[in-house]
Amino acid sequence: MNATHTTPATGPRIIGHVIDGVEAASAGRTIDRRAPGTDEVVSQVMAADAAEVGSAVAAARRAFDEGPWPRTTVAERAAFLHRVADLIDDHAEELARLDAEEVGKPLTTARGDIGGAAGLWRYAAALAMTMKGQTFTEGGPDHTGLVLREPIGVVALIVPWNFPALILSQKLPFALAAGCTAIVKPSEFTSSSASLIFGLIAEAGLPAGVANLVTGDGRAGALLSESPAVDLVSFTGSTATGRKVVQASSGNLKKLSLELGGKAAQLVFADADLEDAAAAVAHGATFNNGECCVGQPRLLVEDQVADDFLAEVVRRMERIRVGQPLDPQTQLGALIHADHLAKVRGYVEDAAEHDGTVLTGAAPLTDHALSAGQFMAPAVVELTRADVPLFTEEVFGPVLGALRFSTREEAISLANGVEYGLSNTIWSKNTDTVLDTAKALRSGTVYVNTTIDAPPQMPFGGYKASGVGREMGEAGFEEFTELKSISIRTGKRTGAFPV
Ligand code: NAD
Repeated sequence: MNATHTTPATGPRIIGHVIDGVEAASAGRTIDRRAPGTDEVVSQVMAADAAEVGSAVAAARRAFDEGPWPRTTVAERAAFLHRVADLIDDHAEELARLDAEEVGKPLTTARGDIGGAAGLWRYAAALAMTMKGQTFTEGGPDHTGLVLREPIGVVALIVPWNFPALILSQKLPFALAAGCTAIVKPSEFTSSSASLIFGLIAEAGLPAGVANLVTGDGRAGALLSESPAVDLVSFTGSTATGRKVVQASSGNLKKLSLELGGKAAQLVFADADLEDAAAAVAHGATFNNGECCVGQPRLLVEDQVADDFLAEVVRRMERIRVGQPLDPQTQLGALIHADHLAKVRGYVEDAAEHDGTVLTGAAPLTDHALSAGQFMAPAVVELTRADVPLFTEEVFGPVLGALRFSTREEAISLANGVEYGLSNTIWSKNTDTVLDTAKALRSGTVYVNTTIDAPPQMPFGGYKASGVGREMGEAGFEEFTELKSISIRTGKRTGAFPV
């Protein structure tokens, strides 16, 4: 197998680029990745410079303009995507361990990610088979209108650290299914699973240059965003970086698909199944260490049930097992790095100084086995005001901020009162409450009596500052395509033109 990541007998993995089918060993700068659970250096990631990014873009451009991939049949593309899915299944445990170690997420969560990733390659294969245009004859008997659906071209796929293999798989197979060629840029914190997947792609027989990997930090992402030879950037990351991508992309007005931050609320009405809701609220605030764009870090709970409900959520949060990411018993692992842990704790301290009550989670962890890593106990803070950063900003850690409400209108106003609009959750048994509230919420996804739960057939994306465009579903596939209208008349055109 042409695996691009090497695992030396001792010492860190060396992770580098794959450009035009060749593992490119850059002589330049490398970035050490320390495992969040142990603080040991587990990989060294090559930081692409401008020449390397340029080579990767040129390879993708050549493969699109001159190579076979955009000219393959959809059946050939689908067969390739199925082969990669099978190889991901074969290497599932290895991939899950790489992501758990580098992200700090629980191994059980990482295993779920890899299962989901393989499913996305298969779903993209199915979508490839449905790729189609339209025909029109409404312009008269001598007119034929053809609308061709074509691959958009060269795409840059920029991936964050929180779901490395999964988010790569929300992008790359859909781009390949459409006939695009690609450059993938994983996060500098979590490049190992992308590197392994590129080995699997080579094993599955993708022609050189169709998918290229450049590793490195934001500089590599910025170079891709501004490149005039890139037709679309599909970016997942923070809203702040998304804004930079928008600015950098203006040179050639490339298309953008942006999956950005979130700040979801769970709205718990008094008539809900409160046991299910409490479990979901604890899960929604701590899933993937709380480092999740569709995490649910805000609780809005109806006054009359709030005391008991909060007590139950606290009880469940205190039962969550914090531990080493690779321990299969662990439910909450280590946060991505020390600065982030300090930032997350800072939000809790700030809320406490602004009339918030820390109901659980403020005490430091004393377990010696966790002393080297970036661990914290999950926290619940009851707030009295909605204008504190813990309630309005993306904290991205295992912290729940709770507010009480007395009317449905108040709950909707609080939920919508942030710049983000990625997802929200409603808990109620009343159909009117559910439907009227779901329609009033300004977010791309609404979960009802469940949370963080949507199949890849459903388009995923954000309202407001949570993004532009959609991923997954047919709409997500179509982001990687252009429409070309061909208008044809038959017969002599006498008198058709006024000159
Ligand atoms: P980030 O914005 O710091 O980085 C994301 C990626 O962009 C990384 O690969 C990074 O190297 C690269 N990058 C950094 N600077 C860049 C620049 N100037 N131009 C282009 N690329 C650049 O985000 P992160 O910390 O890796 O991920 C966490 C964020 O991602 C959170 O805000 C989270 O909500 C968001 N996210 C959103 C979704 C979604 O689907 N909406 C999913 C997962 C994560």
